[in-house]
Amino acid sequence: MNTLKGIPAAPGVAMGRVMFFDSEDIVVPKRAITEDQVPYEVLRLEEALIKTRHQIISIQKKLSVELGQEHAEILNAHLLVLEDQSLREEIIHGLRRQLLNVETIFNEVIRRHLKAFSRTEDEYLRERTADIEDVRKRILRNLLGKQSATLAQLDQQVVVVAHDLSPSETAQMHKQHVLAFVTDIGGRTSHTAIMAKSLEIPAVVGVAVATKKIQKGEFVIVDGTRGEVILDPDQDTIKRYEVEQRRHQELNRQLLHLKDLPAETLDHHTVVLSANIELPDELPSVIAHGADGIGLFRTEFLYLNRSDFPTEEEQYEAYRTVAEQLSPHPVIIRTMDLGGDKFFSPMQVPTEMNPFMGWRAVRFSLARPDIFRLQLRAVMRASMHGNLKLMYPMISGVEELRRANEILHEVKQELTREGVPFSATMEVGAMIEVPSAALTCDLLAKEVKFFSIGTNDLIQYSLAVDRVNEKIAYLYEPTHPAILRLIKQIIDVGHANKLWVGMCGEMAGEPPLSLLLLGMGLDEFSTSPAQLPIVKQVIRSVEYSFAKSVVEEALTLRTGKEVEAFLSASLKHVAPALVE
Ligand code: PEP
Ligand code: MG
Repeated sequence: MNTLKGIPAAPGVAMGRVMFFDSEDIVVPKRAITEDQVPYEVLRLEEALIKTRHQIISIQKKLSVELGQEHAEILNAHLLVLEDQSLREEIIHGLRRQLLNVETIFNEVIRRHLKAFSRTEDEYLRERTADIEDVRKRILRNLLGKQSATLAQLDQQVVVVAHDLSPSETAQMHKQHVLAFVTDIGGRTSHTAIMAKSLEIPAVVGVAVATKKIQKGEFVIVDGTRGEVILDPDQDTIKRYEVEQRRHQELNRQLLHLKDLPAETLDHHTVVLSANIELPDELPSVIAHGADGIGLFRTEFLYLNRSDFPTEEEQYEAYRTVAEQLSPHPVIIRTMDLGGDKFFSPMQVPTEMNPFMGWRAVRFSLARPDIFRLQLRAVMRASMHGNLKLMYPMISGVEELRRANEILHEVKQELTREGVPFSATMEVGAMIEVPSAALTCDLLAKEVKFFSIGTNDLIQYSLAVDRVNEKIAYLYEPTHPAILRLIKQIIDVGHANKLWVGMCGEMAGEPPLSLLLLGMGLDEFSTSPAQLPIVKQVIRSVEYSFAKSVVEEALTLRTGKEVEAFLSASLKHVAPALVE
């Protein structure tokens, strides 16, 4: 028995056999051929090259329409690899000499080139390795007649172990088949972890050695609450975790009884509890957990796992469905937050050194008003079917906010001209998740109706700690005094300007932290549906005055660790069952 430590990403315990997932891995079968089969293998190579060329050209066409010609041109390097005559000759020569199938020879030849390129002093050539690697996989898939593997195709119950999983890969998982997952890299508020919480799949990320130490087919226990993976557990340990699993399920069952009760303190201070969703499929869970609405609809997930952009009509249907099903409760649509750790699957957006600080969220939307307008039109049209609100992600200052609002205004004028109805009173808000926005929220307050604090990003940007990097995860502290001060300031300034202030970062769903946020006067808590009952229980267990006194004391403490210990002790005092 051996225990691996990682970062708790999604709570719960699961046990089962391990399946390795590597979206990148292509197994190349080796097969001997006879001399007279060589021309046939050459023909197979030519066919695969032609097919690959067609695929790349069609992606280029899409890119140039949707992102502009300069993005399409990035793939020219891929086409050059296909046209390389000397590479072709080398492969044909290898076929004749080694008499092995073309996949094997092709793979050997191209790997030799990749090795040489990666060692060269020439920076340009070194940078081309990623292009060649991409083409290598594409040609191999075409030779083998394979689609890329997806987690949606599983047909048995497994614990998935992977070096890394992208948010879009995670979004394809089904709870019936994926019992839990474990990754080498990643952080607590990566979108992969957030997705796991939404899907209610226990997960441990940032284990570093998971793919090295865990064997394929091995039986493991995944403790997503503590961030541990137990390899080859003995019978006693299995029994202990089965008891734990039942305790977890029982607590959740009991908490679900709170579903229809208000989120109200013992002295009758009420807050709004909303859910975060990524896709409309999550609505049954939102309703089952008794949310007062949706505080964050991460609409960028509509853009992932597909080879084109969602149309206005498709988006309208998605927003309308959510608005109708939750009406009269509010649904806050966040305009797309692409970039960071969420990329369009088919688009080769240029690699950035710091994607979280790069071409992301509202920056992308403002640079591509054609794509942004379609989304705004869809939201405005859907606003007739329920209580929709709109917010922009990653606002860094007044100018950006004004520009987004101007485009919204133009879209409204356009709809009016076309005679298309929309709600003229729909509230528009800003996410406060960039330190510059937090520090100038008094200025932003004049331009919007509400704030929603995005602590996942606010913490990473304020503390300079990449939210998906497991090596520095110990520095990612929601309880850091700097974060406490920033949040308090945003709430106070929002209230002074008569705005309501919500929070849709993961912090809002963690029991000891929700006690603090309650005391700071936060109006709305939005978190993954499964976390809602426990937050409600915290709120229903305390006096508002007690929560306020907790804030006063917490603000005098000097380190994140001190604040964390103090908040856990305070919560234990009022709701012992909720503290581990
Ligand atoms: C946040 O940053 O806190 C947030 C809610 O947005 P996301 O996690 O999608 O970046
Ligand atoms: Mg964010």
